Amino acid sequence: MDFIIVGGGVYGAGVAWELARRGAEVLVLEAGEIASGASGGLGKRGVRANGRDVRELPLMRAAYDLWPDLHERLGAPTGYERVGNLHLLERDLDLAGAGAQAWMQGQQGIATTLLSAEAVREMEPDLHSRIRGALYCPDDGVADHTATTRALAQAAQRHGAVIREHTQVTQLERSGDRIVAVITAQEERIEVGRTVLLLANTFVPDLLKTQFGVTLPVWAMWPQIVLTEPVEPMPVHYLIGHASRTLAMKSTPDSRVMISGGWRGRLNPDTGQAEPQADQVQGNVAEAVAVFPSLEGVAVAEAKTDRCESTTIDGIPIIDRVPGLSNAVFATGWSGHGWAIAPAVNQLLADWVYSDRQDSQLYPFRYSRFTASSAMP
Ligand SMILES: Cc1cc2nc3c(=O)[nH]c(=O)nc-3n(C[C@H](O)[C@H](O)[C@H](O)COP(=O)(O)OP(=O)(O)OC[C@H]3O[C@@H](n4cnc5c(N)ncnc54)[C@H](O)[C@@H]3O)c2cc1C
Repeated sequence: MDFIIVGGGVYGAGVAWELARRGAEVLVLEAGEIASGASGGLGKRGVRANGRDVRELPLMRAAYDLWPDLHERLGAPTGYERVGNLHLLERDLDLAGAGAQAWMQGQQGIATTLLSAEAVREMEPDLHSRIRGALYCPDDGVADHTATTRALAQAAQRHGAVIREHTQVTQLERSGDRIVAVITAQEERIEVGRTVLLLANTFVPDLLKTQFGVTLPVWAMWPQIVLTEPVEPMPVHYLIGHASRTLAMKSTPDSRVMISGGWRGRLNPDTGQAEPQADQVQGNVAEAVAVFPSLEGVAVAEAKTDRCESTTIDGIPIIDRVPGLSNAVFATGWSGHGWAIAPAVNQLLADWVYSDRQDSQLYPFRYSRFTASSAMP
């Protein structure tokens, strides 16, 4: 096989599709099932530029162009909707920087309007009076992550990619500066023709550390999502973020509110799964009520912390070659916002490994940004 991809999330499945439609031979090895990691699970994921790190904005700008007709190119629904994002401003500090942020996002091609308190309340009448403005990005939206990831995998297969689920990669076999084979938990040895792509999210730092002694400043976290019982009338109409509260919100088609934004589950070492914590659930709901007071007393239908995500010390991913290896590329450390940019990153990754030319849009994500001799070309 020319290209072996480890991991069947949005990155593994998406790069497989991009490579297969360029005519490459591709094999995806997925430990569980497609979309069984961060790219699957409850609800929809935000497709948001608002509030994003400036280094990711060019990728998000490119992704804006790719999301709207992705379902046509995949031949399957993605659940993408351009609902608009309100990044709420509450403190003096939030307001002080908002104009600069709107300008910066605008410079990167992200349509952004700074709204007054009155203007934001016209859009979301149930907001608390403590909300003093918002940054509004009309092109932000949501997409169904599970459906899209599965659609990417199916489209890759239609172009000839081979996808093997329940196939866990345990080791890479090295010869000089090349990976020559991957070894699976079933002790199968699969030869690498050209390049191996390590797109297995939280597994990547472990593999690089144990096999090559490479430390990535990345750790695993278990983000929490709270789903309320149906709420009538629905107070939330936009994708909501907040400049200073740990809060993100969206409504669901069955009139529930999904509340998230950075609260966490705790890993149970006995099961290897994270469990929701009462204080985290209550804290997240309290933030939502502080912003939308009509949610006071809302019943929680479920809280989920079952999807593990990799987080980087500086909050943006690391996308690079494995140090010392000429034919191994990795991407990890999405830091809770890797979904929205995936269509753009997948194209860039596929172009890079297919043509051996790395697009400059990927330079900010190099591993060398953490090392003393860091230098941009
Ligand atoms: C709860 C939650 C909410 C989020 N919300 C947003 C959002 O609103 N907007 C946004 O932009 N982003 C969001 N994200 C982030 C986004 O979902 C992730 O960054 C993205 O899905 C990561 O994709 P991935 O393909 O790298 O990883 P994953 O989807 O985790 O895929 C990695 C795959 O690798 C497999 N694997 C692991 N080890 C091995 C092995 N040894 N061999 C073979 N396969 C292996 C796993 O089984 C898994 O399927 C959220 C993440 C979570 C968890």
